[in-house]
Amino acid sequence: MKLPFLLLFFLLAVKISAQESGRDFLTSDIAQFESRSAGLRVNAAGLRVVASNNFDVKYYRCEWEVDPAVNHIKGSVTSHFVMSTAGNSITLDLSNALTVSAVQQRGSNVAFVHAGDALTITLQNPLAPGTKDSVTVSYEGPPPAANGAFVVTTHGPSATPVLWTLSEPYGSRDWWPCKNGLDDKADSLDVYITHPATYKAASNGLLQSETAVAGSKTLTHWKHRYAIASYLVAIAVTNYIVLDNSVLIGGTNVPFKTYCYPESQVTFQNGALNALNAMVQFSNLFGDYPFKNEKYGHVQFGWGGGMEHQTCSFMVNMGETLIAHELGHQWFGDKVTCASWQDIWLNEGFATHLASIYTEAKYPANTKTARTNEINTITSLPGGSVWVDNVNDVNRIFSNRLSYLKGSHLLYMLRWILGDATFFAAVNNYINDPALAYGYATSANLKAHLETVSGKDLTYFFDQWFTGEGYPSYQVEWYPTGNSVQVKLNQTQSHASVGFFRLPVPLLFRNAGTNQQKLVVFENTTNGQFFVDNLGFGATEVIFDPDVWLITRNNTITKTSGPLPVVFSQFSVECRGNNARLSWATTEEVNADYFEILGSKDARNWNAMGTVPAIGNSKETNEYFFDVETALNQGYYRIREYDTDGSTQETRIVAAQCGGVESLKIYPNPATDSFTLESSLKGTFPGKAPLKGLLLYNLKGNHFVLEPIAEHGRTRTFDARSLAPGLYFVVPGNGQVISKLWKR
Ligand SMILES: [Zn+2]
Repeated sequence: MKLPFLLLFFLLAVKISAQESGRDFLTSDIAQFESRSAGLRVNAAGLRVVASNNFDVKYYRCEWEVDPAVNHIKGSVTSHFVMSTAGNSITLDLSNALTVSAVQQRGSNVAFVHAGDALTITLQNPLAPGTKDSVTVSYEGPPPAANGAFVVTTHGPSATPVLWTLSEPYGSRDWWPCKNGLDDKADSLDVYITHPATYKAASNGLLQSETAVAGSKTLTHWKHRYAIASYLVAIAVTNYIVLDNSVLIGGTNVPFKTYCYPESQVTFQNGALNALNAMVQFSNLFGDYPFKNEKYGHVQFGWGGGMEHQTCSFMVNMGETLIAHELGHQWFGDKVTCASWQDIWLNEGFATHLASIYTEAKYPANTKTARTNEINTITSLPGGSVWVDNVNDVNRIFSNRLSYLKGSHLLYMLRWILGDATFFAAVNNYINDPALAYGYATSANLKAHLETVSGKDLTYFFDQWFTGEGYPSYQVEWYPTGNSVQVKLNQTQSHASVGFFRLPVPLLFRNAGTNQQKLVVFENTTNGQFFVDNLGFGATEVIFDPDVWLITRNNTITKTSGPLPVVFSQFSVECRGNNARLSWATTEEVNADYFEILGSKDARNWNAMGTVPAIGNSKETNEYFFDVETALNQGYYRIREYDTDGSTQETRIVAAQCGGVESLKIYPNPATDSFTLESSLKGTFPGKAPLKGLLLYNLKGNHFVLEPIAEHGRTRTFDARSLAPGLYFVVPGNGQVISKLWKR
């Protein structure tokens, strides 16, 4: 996609101006300008093409006569094709602003109808599928100005006329008859341009000849022998200075041709050197420059940006981001073209990413800031998918925020998840897949190559990041324990379409005093996940995603005041017969090892009574029990939880006195004059007077205090004569009824 010039200084403005290459583009603002420009060129109706799909274009021979001083084109275009379904007509796209004088097939005129920007040609005979044939359309006229596809204007101090074309996405039909859709590349192309002899004409492929012809004109012949989409065919004519460079790519010396205005010669010569360096870099990453048997080059034009015309990017200036973006398109957009507008990120996300690869390598100190600025743009709204959900909305298709920047940062995240070696190997396979190279591709094609090389199912990733909307915000809790660190990762999502973003989360732990640091990557697969890592030093600070790989926003990092807790949701004790049963539950465990049961007779001095293994790491509610033997009954209890790293935490204290009072014997029962209480407790229970605080309740709730039994196993006899006949309850101080007494 054409990349417009911005009136903004890039971070590298100082370096760039020193090179006299012009202002560079601020990557984070590209989308806004590109979508605006695309909107000018593609209205809703413009998204439709009308060429028939009953034929497969093989070759275009384009013969044009132009003068940059005049908005006019005259010429003939011969389309070679193979019928794909039987029929006696084919339809090409061609603007009604142009007048067709004749259509010929095999040297004879044939009938045609030119209406609705469609040129329907009636063939001499019905053609069977697989039949090769060709038609030649002769036409002329003033191309419509509305779409800016064919522009005549001036440049420079002398207001020299200049002509350029810019056809993406559906402007080709404004100046030549073709198949204008995203579904049929011609296998090759010849361009013959007749123009005033004082000028030079640039176009796709290799320059074959510049021949003087009558009328002080020159016939310039360009020949291109790679598959090409119609929107990537372009011409430009003015008083160009032609500069020649070359670069060795894969053993081939690739010519680099610069067509620039005389007043821009120094700038464009310097810019060519940047392009050559980028071409070497991209060839190393993605395979040789796709058109290395012909050339690459820059052609200066006046539209406010750039456009990746095949083998000859049209450039408003020599901003380095622009150079790298348009060159990147030669692989992503030109060699492999998105098969539908829903997949525009395969062009724009990649071109944006390649520009970042170039600038990050050349200006590494700016990397974090540049990535952060882009992510801030991506996350400036809570929703939006890279997948184009409305192909009738041009602004959506060319959304800088989503198709360019978020697309580019999906590639960052794939690099982070898969590792660069795997990522680049997979993308190499994608860009060089014989089924895709020099043709069209979908996001599914890319995904398949990524999965094949990585061995990973990336459905979740594409669900969350390609069709899903929004981004995660992380709430990181951490606590250093010695040389280790505990981490808990919570996540919220900006958009309801994704319930959880599964990512490897990088945290950089540092010790400010010793300057030790360690980057730890946590494979975060569930929300609220707990981790522990042995850093080898005590961390004093944490930095989230220090190299800015992830699309996130509003992250928080909290150093907790104590070990990340096992959350006890319940702890109680009940008497079961003579035993005490402790029960507790946890709702979160991180690195829990085991629970130690502590008992005490005074709630101050604690004895270990046993252990229970912990689940370990869990977000579920887990219930635990521990039965305290009667003989070990302590009265006070608490649970001490041990983490795997030895850190501990304890519950609150619960109290229950079981067994001793329940074993109370009463006799005789019913009683008349007296009754005897006998404690049957065994063992010693210092600190506890078992039957201290015994009360005798009648049914009216009146109570009588009984004298305590001083020692376990002893008896005490009480005078019952003063008690009214009836039922009494023997209740110890803790309020639990333990026995009944009948008074006659
Ligand atoms: Zn682009």
